[in-house]
Amino acid sequence: MCTVCGCGEGETTIEGQEHDHHPHEHHHGHGHNHDYGQGPAHAHAPGLSQARMVQIEQDILGKNNEYAVANRRWFAGRNILALNLVSSPGSGKTSLLTRTLLHMKDRLPMAVIEGDQQTSHDADRIRETGVKALQINTGKGCHLDAHMVGHALDSLDPEPGSVLFIENVGNLVCPAAFDLGEAHKVAILSVTEGEDKPLKYPDMFHVADLMILNKIDLLPYLDFDPDKCIDYARRVNPRIRVLQLSATTGEGMDAWQQWIEANRQLAALGD
Ligand code: MG
Repeated sequence: MCTVCGCGEGETTIEGQEHDHHPHEHHHGHGHNHDYGQGPAHAHAPGLSQARMVQIEQDILGKNNEYAVANRRWFAGRNILALNLVSSPGSGKTSLLTRTLLHMKDRLPMAVIEGDQQTSHDADRIRETGVKALQINTGKGCHLDAHMVGHALDSLDPEPGSVLFIENVGNLVCPAAFDLGEAHKVAILSVTEGEDKPLKYPDMFHVADLMILNKIDLLPYLDFDPDKCIDYARRVNPRIRVLQLSATTGEGMDAWQQWIEANRQLAALGD
């Protein structure tokens, strides 16, 4: 559940696992009494004071951060580079991923966690590349949280030294608030969207380390001004890195792969 937007807690389903209640201990040693979404799911019921709402939100994010710390420790112990890919729906995240996997799978071990409200379409697309993937369906939930990711790791079991891509639910608001234990959030913005999105959704661009401007092959047909967009992104986050590419034509993909390789080496060094 997310008090940021007031969405309800969906019935989260992780492929190959029973959902809602997790009677087993998983590798983070979390017990099973941690469905912190259940109570606050009714947080927008009438009669709750603003102060109570704030308290609930702090409790949820605090609990999430505990799971994120556990995930981060788990990744560090295995030299895994975890990247949290965030964007609006339709930015081309899954196409960027499949192209990236096809380019890099012979050099690097990789795995993917796919987050969507419904369907396993994206995980199916990923698996067609030969890279292992696991789908999380969040139901009515609008973001992945660190607890879901911890459970997904039990089943997916990415190999030591690998790159784990976590494709978040398409949403530029709520995923900004939820640390999954990743090394970096990567915000993907396609040039078919408004160039002022970094100003409209500053939280996401503030927490992202990298912004990818995708679909640049379409620029000749659009009014989108990449320089203006980059300027807006740097207003909310002066240290954000920017890569411009097209997952369709492959233009700019080399720099993205180099960015992944460099950060994987840092992860292997324990940075
Ligand atoms: Mg997708």
